[in-house]
Amino acid sequence: MNDQTYVYDFSEGNAEMKALLGGKGAGLAEMTRIGIPVPDGFTVTTAACVETMRAGGTWPADLWAQIEARLDALEARTGRTLGAAERPLLVSVRSGSVFSMPGMMDTILNLGISDDAAAGLADETGNPRFAWDSYRRFLQMYGEVVEGVPSHAFEDELTALKGRRGATADTDLSVEDLQELVATFRQVARTHGADLPTDPREQLRRAVGAVFDSWDNPRARVYRGLNNISDDLGTAVNIQQMVFGNRGDRSATGVAFTRNPSTGVKELYGEFLVNAQGEDVVAGIRTPRPLAELEAVLPEAYGQFLATMDRLESHYGDMQDIEFTIEEGRLFLLQTRNGKRTAAAALKVARDLVEDGVIDRATALRRVEPAQLDQLLHPGLDPAHGATPVTRGLNASPGAAVGQIVFDADTAAERGKNGDAVVLVRWETTPDDIHGLVVAQGVLTAHGGMTSHAAVVARGMGKPCVAGAGEIVIDTRAKTLTIGDLVLAENDVVTLDGSTGAVYAGPLELVPPQITDDFREVLGWADDVRRLGVRANADTGPDAVKARELGAEGIGLCRTEHMFMATDRLPVVQQMILATTAADRQAALDKLLPMQQADFEEIFEAMTGLPVTIRLIDPPLHEFLPDFTEQSLLVQRLEAAGSPDLPAARDLLAHIKRLREFNPMLGTRGVRLSLLYPEICVMQTRAIIRAGLAVAARGLDPHVEIMVPLVGFAEELHRMRSVIVTTADEEVAAAEVALDYSVGTMIELPRAALTADKIAEHADFFSFGTNDLTQTAVGISRDDAEGSFLAAYLEAGIVPANPFASIDADGVAELVRIGVEKGRSVKPGLKTGVCGEHGGDPASIAILDALGLDYVSCSPYRVPLARLAAARTTL
Ligand code: ADP
Ligand code: MG
Ligand code: MG
Repeated sequence: MNDQTYVYDFSEGNAEMKALLGGKGAGLAEMTRIGIPVPDGFTVTTAACVETMRAGGTWPADLWAQIEARLDALEARTGRTLGAAERPLLVSVRSGSVFSMPGMMDTILNLGISDDAAAGLADETGNPRFAWDSYRRFLQMYGEVVEGVPSHAFEDELTALKGRRGATADTDLSVEDLQELVATFRQVARTHGADLPTDPREQLRRAVGAVFDSWDNPRARVYRGLNNISDDLGTAVNIQQMVFGNRGDRSATGVAFTRNPSTGVKELYGEFLVNAQGEDVVAGIRTPRPLAELEAVLPEAYGQFLATMDRLESHYGDMQDIEFTIEEGRLFLLQTRNGKRTAAAALKVARDLVEDGVIDRATALRRVEPAQLDQLLHPGLDPAHGATPVTRGLNASPGAAVGQIVFDADTAAERGKNGDAVVLVRWETTPDDIHGLVVAQGVLTAHGGMTSHAAVVARGMGKPCVAGAGEIVIDTRAKTLTIGDLVLAENDVVTLDGSTGAVYAGPLELVPPQITDDFREVLGWADDVRRLGVRANADTGPDAVKARELGAEGIGLCRTEHMFMATDRLPVVQQMILATTAADRQAALDKLLPMQQADFEEIFEAMTGLPVTIRLIDPPLHEFLPDFTEQSLLVQRLEAAGSPDLPAARDLLAHIKRLREFNPMLGTRGVRLSLLYPEICVMQTRAIIRAGLAVAARGLDPHVEIMVPLVGFAEELHRMRSVIVTTADEEVAAAEVALDYSVGTMIELPRAALTADKIAEHADFFSFGTNDLTQTAVGISRDDAEGSFLAAYLEAGIVPANPFASIDADGVAELVRIGVEKGRSVKPGLKTGVCGEHGGDPASIAILDALGLDYVSCSPYRVPLARLAAARTTL
């Protein structure tokens, strides 16, 4: 026997008990505690669900007894009896997990209703229409959720009846119609082999079981997979007295946010429906009305509503997403939670709440997810594009999307996976469409409001969405959409502007993102608290300018070979590689020098006053030559044709052959290459130093850092350094202005990390190249792994994360730790940084900050994210 408590009354819980009561249960308890009107009820804990799952579906022994005891007490408190003919108690049975999973699990309303109870309710309220409306709703939900009757079976009957009566809305049906519908629904259930138990307590028991089971339904699993929510948490079940938004014209149901979740602006945001229940608002059964109209329709409830929203927001100190019902003019809250929001809204809400003194800056920084900032750094439509929209819908989730139309989620998922840009066009989306939404560029729906499924999910994913574009007629069979005379077929391109709700035929051009004041302000707070520096990886002047705009404090990695690849330079680079005499090689290098110098000047100018780390040539030389197989084929062709070009082609082939390596990534590259061909590195050093001198002569302040890649032995750096210093000092001595520079090395081989004390003797700084370090330490090729076994490893949980995306904490990060420690053991102030994908990954940033590195360096568009992540690790 165990004496664990599996059930808590709302009046016993609070917001802190989320793990046990689920988000919804904890919210209901907290609202009850602070005196906000919530229908009475109790919560079955997540622990009960977890134990049931572990036991293969068998409930803990005394769970049912505990539920019945709570139900007895609820009956006593309300003076009602579940399912009784007189004063019947009706309840909802609502799932509620720890993390919100909108629409992912199942809810049953009006449980306890029966022929007798419906009659009793009709008498009691003098409103038979409402009683029978509640009854038919119950039969449908119970049939679907508990008995597994397909939902269309009920929907079809409802539609058919409305057709026969010429009714457009559910509310046009009469009492007799609804009674007929109840009889039909019972028949539908029977046809599908469902038997409705007559005992209402038995109905409750089965409903609770069905909610437990819903934790494992496929769409819930997909959602958890996408959001990294553990399958082991289980769901709580809330059993709550019903309040009725479907009692007539003084009743309503609705959903609202305390601020606009797209923009963060404090304004009315939400929708309601008069004489409706439950999911009617989000399910798009009738078109909901904007909240602003509530004042005119139900003035007294509107006043309560505004006051309650304020109360909740100041109590939770955050924007709330609420569900409410008004019964005969009285407001009840049915749910509250922190509202999902776009990145722009997250920044604005955080900033406004700080300015209003509701939260402090540290809390504000905790509220904005670094990864979310990515949304703001995506392109939007050029404000001056001048195109005319073909139709408009609601601006449900901001940002612009260009893609080919697809009409179903499966096709979207397949095409999206292949890298095609698609826009998912649906009448309305449902949780079953998730896999298509994930990969689509954007979503367009013909139906549904700002709180419809498509809108909520798109905002959560940071995807553009235009919802409820009512002029669109979709023919899923013919795969066309029609707007007036315009017919668009599958694969035609459309552009959505989720910020305005406009839809355009054909592709429109996108422009770079605009940085807002909120962005600047909140990121400024991040800069005030972070310890870790943030630099950018940038190879060109424009990239450097962008990086600085986004807050980079220098360049951590400038890859010089990217400059070699430019079409006008590649021939000169090849000439250098193919040279057979020192004089020929020098001639080619002399041509390259001014080109490189010009590039560096641009970068130093953009980064004046900030450090710029320039890495000397790294890739193996064969990367600059044609592919071996292609060149062999060319030689064959020329041979066959007896072409005069044959000798040159053969010569090139011989060169390619000589430079070929089985493992080029572990071959003649980095410092190895530079030691074999020091003249390349001499040229690069001259170009760097001359660029620095030229920029300094213009009165700017270049901070030059020259970096040697792929060092494994201290002696390599020792020799390389002397080449660099000799060359650089020659240049500086010949100049009229002064220039400081430093020479450092990448640490990207395990041997370098382990012998960092020896290497540090010749280095002014270290930059950990964690991409190569991961390759060489873990022994996984970055270019080959992702498609192959690593994907299987991740799936099977053999490794927790892709080590190229998030630094391997136990292995690679340990090498970094050793490298920093050994390096600083000989040079206490040795500057250390990380350049590599990890520099822009929040989880890696937390680890690297703890290792005491001076900075991380990442691509320019990830700089804001890194600034915020670095700040959050200090909170
Ligand atoms: P979900 O998690 O999908 O939002 P809920 O459990 O919140 O499901 O239920 C959906 C809707 O059903 C609620 O928003 C509310 O309108 C309605 N509902 C739930 N419980 C009650 C109740 N006790 N009285 C009236 N309406 C309810
Ligand atoms: Mg639901
Ligand atoms: Mg809800």
